[in-house]
Amino acid sequence: MAEDKPQSAEQKKQFQQMLQNKQIEDKLNEITHKIMVMSGKGGVGKSTTAANLAIGLSKRGYKVGILDTDLHGPSITNILGLEKKRVDIDDKSKQVIPISYSESLNVISIQFLLQDPDSALIWRGPIKIGVIRQFIADVNWGKLDYLIIDSPPGTGDEPLTVAQTVPGCQALIVTTPQYVSLADVKKSINFCKQVKMPILGILENMSGFTCPHCGEEIDLFKKHGGKKVAEEFSLNFLGAIPIDPEIVEMGDSGISIFDEKEDSKTLIEYNKILDEVEGLLKSTKTESKKSEVKKNKKEEKTMTEKKDSNVTIIALPTVAGKLCEHFGHCEKFAMFEVKGTEIKATEPLAPPSHAPGVIPEWLSKQNTDIIIAGGMGSRAKNLFTEFGIEVITGVVDGDSPEEIVKRYVGENLEIGENICDH
Ligand code: ADP
Repeated sequence: MAEDKPQSAEQKKQFQQMLQNKQIEDKLNEITHKIMVMSGKGGVGKSTTAANLAIGLSKRGYKVGILDTDLHGPSITNILGLEKKRVDIDDKSKQVIPISYSESLNVISIQFLLQDPDSALIWRGPIKIGVIRQFIADVNWGKLDYLIIDSPPGTGDEPLTVAQTVPGCQALIVTTPQYVSLADVKKSINFCKQVKMPILGILENMSGFTCPHCGEEIDLFKKHGGKKVAEEFSLNFLGAIPIDPEIVEMGDSGISIFDEKEDSKTLIEYNKILDEVEGLLKSTKTESKKSEVKKNKKEEKTMTEKKDSNVTIIALPTVAGKLCEHFGHCEKFAMFEVKGTEIKATEPLAPPSHAPGVIPEWLSKQNTDIIIAGGMGSRAKNLFTEFGIEVITGVVDGDSPEEIVKRYVGENLEIGENICDH
């Protein structure tokens, strides 16, 4: 009689393993790009990089997952402000539902499964390997453009499991510029060579510091070390992120640097790195969420399809109905149509998510002629100008947007110093 099911314990184990391999394969087939963020040593900003890379890509319209394989010191959850969340199991599929950071970014970490978040895990290799495999096989990841895998520092069981379980995964190696860290980077490079994992590139973190008071650049941990090591090993240099107190703040508050000022140097550098990553992986990029976003943008309601040339459209960033000092932090834009001295308030508009260049382009699509704001950095100002929008800054008026526009039209609006002209 033919036997459908395995009999011995060993056969059962093999059968389970086969099933899991199949599940892993199916899950990974739904994910286009897999990037493991690694570093030779701890504290160089590997998890911070993994989190920012994932947030940045998701803000660009990709579907992204973060898999935190740092089982002994998971920090992704804190960086993303998700440390109190606990996962649920889907009744039907019996799959783990990842925790959502945003509509397009889901996260899995051991932290979501711990009863006591401060408890220490004392796990040996085989258990860790099992957990990481389950994090892929048993989690309802769905279709993803990018899976960002945060691994613990060094070249232990966790990165090895990823290398053996996730075919096509590429390594992104994070280092600080100083020598001790670079010596460890070489170990990471050798590890990747041994396990035949392609290296996407090297990222230099904590690269220089700009004094917030005098603007002088100080190379606390030196500079360009990551670039040199990339050159030495003929690897891609993805870019350098400066030391930025706002990154530390992000780790404490869970607020992303991508929601910060549009012209922050750190954000500009992160965006360059994202351009680099997108460019390097372009050949295998799928048309997914990004095309949907483009489509949605096309379908976005424009305020006036064809504008009367005698009408001037003025936009003011607002929070709780009042002028917001930094347009990048605003909730809505109060919109006004001005014809001569006639002012008509139209429906306030919620801006799209914040990334350099997005708001100027979006406001130009709303036929905006003028933006009145409290403060604006020179880069953002230039972007608005490029889109043909006149920028008026230095307005610290606590009045309603309508009052401000009335004064502007009546030529009695007080204009002070640009609040963040640096
Ligand atoms: P790792 O994962 O390599 O151990 P983390 O990402 O946890 O490192 O970062 C270690 C600490 O350094 C955290 O407090 C984090 O906020 C801080 N940090 C990381 N990158 C930067 C940076 N560019 N500027 C300032 N602080 C940073």
